[in-house]
Amino acid sequence: MKAIVLRQRGRAGVSLCEMPRPALRPGWARVRMIAASVNRVDLYMRDSGAGITHDLPQIMGVDGAGAVIEAPDCPGLAPGDPVVLYPAEFCGTCRACLAGDQPLCHQIRILGEHRDGTFAEEVVVPARSLVRLAPGADMDQAAMLGVAYLTAWRMVFGKAPTGPGQVVLVQGAGGGVSHAAMQLARMAGARVIVTTSGAGKLAHFRALGVEAIDYRGEDVPKAVLRLTGGEGADLVIDTVGEKTWGASLRSLARGGHLVTCGATTGAHPSADIQRLFVRQLSIHGSTMGSMEEFRRLIRAWEAGGFTPLIDRAFPLAEVPAAFERLEDPARIGKILIRIA
Ligand SMILES: [Zn+2]
Repeated sequence: MKAIVLRQRGRAGVSLCEMPRPALRPGWARVRMIAASVNRVDLYMRDSGAGITHDLPQIMGVDGAGAVIEAPDCPGLAPGDPVVLYPAEFCGTCRACLAGDQPLCHQIRILGEHRDGTFAEEVVVPARSLVRLAPGADMDQAAMLGVAYLTAWRMVFGKAPTGPGQVVLVQGAGGGVSHAAMQLARMAGARVIVTTSGAGKLAHFRALGVEAIDYRGEDVPKAVLRLTGGEGADLVIDTVGEKTWGASLRSLARGGHLVTCGATTGAHPSADIQRLFVRQLSIHGSTMGSMEEFRRLIRAWEAGGFTPLIDRAFPLAEVPAAFERLEDPARIGKILIRIA
């Protein structure tokens, strides 16, 4: 089968290769991949991979959707079933798994990080990491749910759940997770303010009816306070890291919550401890989501609660070009990989 394989670090280490079909195990299913998407973590694996136990060569790709080829001892799964992949294997028996918090599983193995991933014609995963979709489901959209949308779901609903009457600030809202968070917060009825840059992205958000602050031209905390009558945001979604951290803290309302899932621009900003305790702010780290959050996300998508935004689509062989697009500041939303 064809797959995008990481043989060594760096751009030159990524190529389309012929790989052996993965072996099926008891309780596992073989899936013919239809679509996947690229995520920031793919670039981290390509360029560093530090702190993640794995061996090279490894098939890349964390999320995706496809159709079951065979699932011989998996009740509820039959050949041809459309499925979306939860992005990890989890043990099902550790303290975290029993508490329903699979992202904290002591033995978690994330696709494309700790084991072979989804940029391949076939993938084998435990049946419990699959969610069956309705026949005729949009597989392009489904392919984006496993990482960006699941991560955004936990950030918006899993820590300090938002809803009508609240203000949510989304930093750098062109990215996959941040754009998803913007959509989910709007679905929940919150007032959403985004920060972004560039005429194209500002126009995109304003056309959606979302208040957009140009962070290059305006002081973000001042703009948020002006828009909210001096109150600030109840929830800030920050996927950017060091570059936006200070502005995120200063944009929060008293008692507000900051949720972070990324450190693309650096991991060691000022803690601003005095502001934290005087204003009684909360900071939450977040990554992925549980199987139950995944189920709720998929049901909300099936009910038309939101429509994942595709920036651009590339065929499997052009994953390296998709990685280039991921780093293009003009991108808005998710970059799709069409496999079949
Ligand atoms: Zn576990």
